[in-house]
Amino acid sequence: MTHSVVWFKRDLRIHDHLPLAQAAKRGAVTCVYFIEPELWRAPDAATQHYQFIIESLRDLHKQLGTIGLKLNLLVGPAAQCLDRITQTQPFDLLYSHEETGNDLTYARDKAVARWCREHGVIWQQHPQFGVHRGPHNRDHWKAGWQRFCGAPQTPAPERVQASAVSLLDTPPAPSQLGLTEPDRPERQPGGRQSGLHTLHDFLHARSQQYRGGISSPLSAPTACSRLSTYLTYGCLSMREVFQSTEAHVQSLPAGRSRHKQGLQSFVSRLYWHCHFIQKLEDEPALEFRNLHRGYDGLRENDWSKARFDALTTGRTGWPLVDACVAMLAHTGWLNFRMRAMLVSVAAYPLWLHWHPVGHWLARQFLDYEPGIHWSQMQMQSGTTGINVPRIYNPIKQARDHDPDGLFVRQWLPAMRRVPDMWLFEPWRMPQNIQAACGVVVGQDIACPLCDLEIATREAKHKVFGLRANPAVRAAKGAIVKKHGSRKQLDSTPARMSSGATRRKKTAAPASTSTQLSLDL
Ligand SMILES: Cc1cc2nc3c(=O)[nH]c(=O)nc-3n(C[C@H](O)[C@H](O)[C@H](O)COP(=O)(O)OP(=O)(O)OC[C@H]3O[C@@H](n4cnc5c(N)ncnc54)[C@H](O)[C@@H]3O)c2cc1C
Repeated sequence: MTHSVVWFKRDLRIHDHLPLAQAAKRGAVTCVYFIEPELWRAPDAATQHYQFIIESLRDLHKQLGTIGLKLNLLVGPAAQCLDRITQTQPFDLLYSHEETGNDLTYARDKAVARWCREHGVIWQQHPQFGVHRGPHNRDHWKAGWQRFCGAPQTPAPERVQASAVSLLDTPPAPSQLGLTEPDRPERQPGGRQSGLHTLHDFLHARSQQYRGGISSPLSAPTACSRLSTYLTYGCLSMREVFQSTEAHVQSLPAGRSRHKQGLQSFVSRLYWHCHFIQKLEDEPALEFRNLHRGYDGLRENDWSKARFDALTTGRTGWPLVDACVAMLAHTGWLNFRMRAMLVSVAAYPLWLHWHPVGHWLARQFLDYEPGIHWSQMQMQSGTTGINVPRIYNPIKQARDHDPDGLFVRQWLPAMRRVPDMWLFEPWRMPQNIQAACGVVVGQDIACPLCDLEIATREAKHKVFGLRANPAVRAAKGAIVKKHGSRKQLDSTPARMSSGATRRKKTAAPASTSTQLSLDL
């Protein structure tokens, strides 16, 4: 008997899951998740990502149980896992969502497409972020995205015939996968239930603070939606978050314009989420090289390991920067402004290349989404050529967003002993004040590695010098055409993108309730 296989990747839910719904219509179904050791050995992989996924798989297994299915868990390269399934029970259709991941998942997908061709299996992939694969019209992208997000959600099938496949490998411990960094004590828990709870709590309680609350690291943890990780791993679908928000805006009584405006700007960020993934889909190399090649050589051979170590251990000496690093290590999350400030400090006064900093931050962010992450790393480092570099001064940011030092004192215990007067520049404290408050600058609190003003000025000079170079300016147009947002262009005549795409559409020639144990 042939049957269909549904391959779960970063779509760990059964609601609004078109691949599952389509497979269910055909007959018997096998649901699988592969733990692929090669992906976990990559420099952007972290224990916290793994543990979040394991928690989400437990939840997914429960969700599948409600419709008569179970989750099969296999450890190994994807093509080998497919071999094992077909040896147990042959199948002719593989269903999944499209994934715009890192270079390794791209290579893995090509191997899976090859495997499908060789085994006469059709692989059907469906988009889940309104991201286009193959040549597409960038000018009308936003309208397409709105149509995608406004389309009806796909309900979970009611009762599905399970195949006879039952494969349940023991999930390796993180250390067996080479994951050495510890999990984050206060990261968000995995699973759709947690995602739904976060969405409900945001819409019905916290979103009132969205407008005005998302910039300060003090208010952001509750004012922001905190949905990014649930979107990254697909515990919630983009469409359901979009539609729930739109419905909530409609239900708000008249006079709640501030609240409504906040939710509208939240929806525009959902759009950015997908817009950035489209960039990586269209140009996978942006994970490795400057989007604008005119910036090649700017920092590649000219960055200091000592400065990198100071940044990653929270010893830059600028309290707000070091407090952000401490919060990340504890929670795996930071709001947009503080992320942008961290990268700006790394790229300008510390003059670090975005690539090693990007790998380190990918491991810090629980919501690591390659398309957003690498685009943002390059934007904040000034190497896209199409965005005016925005340089954040960490002392000014502290004055504006943490004027009483509550945030830095929460995350840097030594700062609790520093008098208010020296809060923003504690390294300037005279010796006698240091002695009086029991803080030694250079020990309890790091001393800045460079003079912020001078180092930033020198860095700006280098970057803006290149920006003004006629050849660099001339090359900008092609990048805008391929990747730039089209704020005013949604109704202009069609222009085709260059068509250089991440992947071709992979058109290869073309239950039971066993308890799943994912305890580690
Ligand atoms: C250097 C850098 C790296 C980043 N890396 C990631 C990443 O790996 N994954 C990720 O989801 N976000 C990333 N962001 C964007 C943003 O910081 C996070 O989406 C946001 O902080 C997540 O918290 P939230 O869900 O509460 O955000 P909210 O403010 O509630 O935003 C709602 C949703 O909109 C999307 N979003 C918000 N801001 C952006 C943005 N600037 N660009 C694209 N999408 C956005 C996210 O899906 C987010 O969940 C990065 C930003 C920077 C500056």
